[in-house]
Amino acid sequence: MLTLTTPLVELHHYGLPRVGQKTAHSLAVEIAALNAKADAREATIEDLLHYLPMRYEDRSNLARISQLQDGQTASVEVVVRLGGIIPLKGGRLKMYEFIATDGEAQVRAFWWNQIYLNKVFHRGTRVILYGEWKWNRYKAYYEVENPEYEILGDEDDEPELAAMHTARRVPIYRKLGDFRTRQLRTIFHHVLNALDPALPESLPSDVLGRNSLLPRGEALRNAHFPAADAPIEDYNQARSAAHRRLIFEELFWLAFALGVKRSQRLAEPKGLQIEINDHVRDAVRAILPFHPTNAQKRALKEIVDDMTSDQPMNRLLQGDVGSGKTIVAVQAMVVAMENGYQTALMAPTEILAEQHARNIRRWLAKTSYRVELLMGSLKAKEKRGIQAAIASGEVDLVVGTHALIQESVQFSKLGFAVVDEQHRFGVLQRAELRRRGMNPDVLVVTATPIPRSLAMTVYGDLEVSIIDELPPGRTPIQTFVRGDDRRAKIYEFIREQITAGRQAYVVYPIIEESEKLDLRNATEMYENLSAEIFPEFSVGLLHGKMKPVEKEAVMKAFSANDIQILVATTVVEVGVDVPNASVMLIEHAERFGLSQLHQLRGRVGRGAAESYCILLAQFAKTKEARERLKVMEETTDGFKIAEKDLEIRGPGEVMGTRQAGVPAFRIANIVRDQQVLEVARREANYLLTERRDTRETDRLIQHVRSQPRYGLAQVG
Ligand code: ADP
Ligand code: MG
Repeated sequence: MLTLTTPLVELHHYGLPRVGQKTAHSLAVEIAALNAKADAREATIEDLLHYLPMRYEDRSNLARISQLQDGQTASVEVVVRLGGIIPLKGGRLKMYEFIATDGEAQVRAFWWNQIYLNKVFHRGTRVILYGEWKWNRYKAYYEVENPEYEILGDEDDEPELAAMHTARRVPIYRKLGDFRTRQLRTIFHHVLNALDPALPESLPSDVLGRNSLLPRGEALRNAHFPAADAPIEDYNQARSAAHRRLIFEELFWLAFALGVKRSQRLAEPKGLQIEINDHVRDAVRAILPFHPTNAQKRALKEIVDDMTSDQPMNRLLQGDVGSGKTIVAVQAMVVAMENGYQTALMAPTEILAEQHARNIRRWLAKTSYRVELLMGSLKAKEKRGIQAAIASGEVDLVVGTHALIQESVQFSKLGFAVVDEQHRFGVLQRAELRRRGMNPDVLVVTATPIPRSLAMTVYGDLEVSIIDELPPGRTPIQTFVRGDDRRAKIYEFIREQITAGRQAYVVYPIIEESEKLDLRNATEMYENLSAEIFPEFSVGLLHGKMKPVEKEAVMKAFSANDIQILVATTVVEVGVDVPNASVMLIEHAERFGLSQLHQLRGRVGRGAAESYCILLAQFAKTKEARERLKVMEETTDGFKIAEKDLEIRGPGEVMGTRQAGVPAFRIANIVRDQQVLEVARREANYLLTERRDTRETDRLIQHVRSQPRYGLAQVG
């Protein structure tokens, strides 16, 4: 009998109709990829069953053509009358179309560039079309562009199967590789029939009871094939009892795994001791170039409290762009160094590492700490010298890029590590840095505010400090979205600003597929601006392909106002700090994501002068791009922007699930399911504290440890 753990590659051994070895194998490949499993042989029936329908259709009640309304999205069952390929002007684009009828009225369906459909549809083909129906006034019929389709009658030799696809509530699956909804529905039907009915329950019975959750098997069955009287709207919004159970389960395991991770970390011996006395306090105060804000003071206190406790720190320092996180991190580093420990700061780019080193050297100029900068691009000999000094303990503070964890760096007594702009680093790298020292305290600093709901899942194992206050004297940045027709005016404006003593950024996007082309654009832009538009000013160019010394030289010149206009690719996105710059002009703003735009905008408004962000968006804008630009005009609050970003792009994209160590969700959606997440977290914490010493909790811990997706094996 089939069980949840049966490998999908063996599915053809179970005598399911139409499931041969080839089908089993392709299915395993697709499902493995979805579940981030490297080997198709690891994909199981359980993984398969978590591929839920994207929607459900009540086919006992399909719309008739005569009932359609203009703009309505609906499924209609029709029979094809006449179809063919229509060549369009220029010959590059082709269209396939057909006219069909439901016996009462006619409709037209068409698809761009899918001429193979000419072989799929024939006169007499029965098909369900799903899409947005538009009324064509001239032809007096409804039309649908690129509809989803499902051909009926393939399985007419098996009446029972044919009935499964029609005249009832039917699951619709997103296309999976070459598998279309109809074939998937057939497979799910057979798999669920062959599945051992004694499906093991995975959640503790008291958790099920307290939250009125369906048993697992029932939830899985219903989620694929809702009962005849099921509330289909609930199913379509993932709010059915079946969905709630499965969503709860997924979030519960995540919360539970994070809880286990946290208690593991807290149980590790810290191996270092930090004390605070007047001497340390004076040292920390002495480096401050300005009065800290209350939020900065509060964050520092939280960090120092962690440092002096006997459990290792793992803290996230969040704050909006320009809120002054760096100095707080450096103050904490001084605390560690005053206690005799080495400290490290890891930045995501060389430009940023260089900037940090520059600032830190300035702030620590009156102290006797030795500060070094370690980057992959240094000469081998220099690198070796610095590494030796780190190993011997002569270096007190080292700033670096990935080189800090990739090269053979051995610290003599690393006590405190800062990871700047965490979202660019995989979680595993953090663990790696941690292993470099004596289990140092780790402070993660992130520039992009993360919505609360996400912070909990991505960084669930971190305590969070928030700097929710900007240093005094900042004037809010004014943001404008403009078209290319205003270019001359914009240049005039930049000229005024520079004449008044300010500086400007002009940013060009780099999109990976066409990096060379974009780079040329940035370079051409630079030439045009420096030679034609602003010959009276000094214009600089900065991009990722430049040598580190060149980049460093350009950044230094811009910092010193020897360069007034900096043309750059998005290398300036994160962290760059030149307070005298007051204009940020972003070309092709429609190509950037919200958090990127927010980051870029954060490069200005860092001094007392009024600052401006101009978003040039010239090409056909999608609805999403328009929404993004509007958000940018409306608010400068990074936390609000982060919430919007989450709404527009969805959690998968925002979290960067491709990053190592961040599990992707199969069913849950963090935005939609926040309440379920709260409950799941409460339950997980309850089991890990009040019920810690029970067999049940032990079993759950074993379970999450055995699942590679939670990354507990490496840490434990
Ligand atoms: P972010 O939080 O984006 O990393 P930074 O640490 O780069 O921000 O700080 C932004 C700017 O504000 C820097 O020029 C920094 O020196 C300055 N700054 C930070 N804290 C204060 C403060 N309390 N008063 C005045 N200026 C500050
Ligand atoms: Mg910063």
